[in-house]
Amino acid sequence: MAFLDRGARSLLLTELISGLWLTLKYMFKQPVTVNYPYEKGPLSPRFRGEHALRRYPNGEERCIACKLCEAICPALAITIEAEPREDGSRRTTRYDIDMTKCIYCGFCQEACPVDAIVEGPNFEFAAETREELFYNKEKLLANGDRWEAEIAKNLALDAAYR
Ligand code: SF4
Ligand code: SF4
Repeated sequence: MAFLDRGARSLLLTELISGLWLTLKYMFKQPVTVNYPYEKGPLSPRFRGEHALRRYPNGEERCIACKLCEAICPALAITIEAEPREDGSRRTTRYDIDMTKCIYCGFCQEACPVDAIVEGPNFEFAAETREELFYNKEKLLANGDRWEAEIAKNLALDAAYR
């Protein structure tokens, strides 16, 4: 009986027709995929992407070289050196993050008392060499300048959720 049933199905092309019907049905539905990189899906304001060092609106860097981020980093990815400036304020002379060690836990951001180090919304920072992923202070500040608008918006949204 099973043999006859299979034969009848082959003869009447029912499997082919049901496959075509399924294709036709999905042709008119909203696609579940996006055409990356031209289209991108939504990101949570808490998304932990590429690191950035932020500045105040007057251009002064926020970081006060307290080294809490360095102390809390479980991957030992952050290296900071600091000195007092001529005006007496304490600032970093070196702020490095080895992004090849980072596990994107977000502890550095949570520990920072002045919202200086943050993980921004950028996830497109793939590199061809390891060296490109050794970030220094200049690179981190440039990231902050580039992403400040999105970072500030996300921090405000995050604070509203808490
Ligand atoms: S996200 Fe975590 S692992 Fe990466 S630098 Fe910050 S504290 Fe270290
Ligand atoms: S980034 Fe924040 S936690 Fe890290 S040294 Fe600067 S002020 Fe301190």
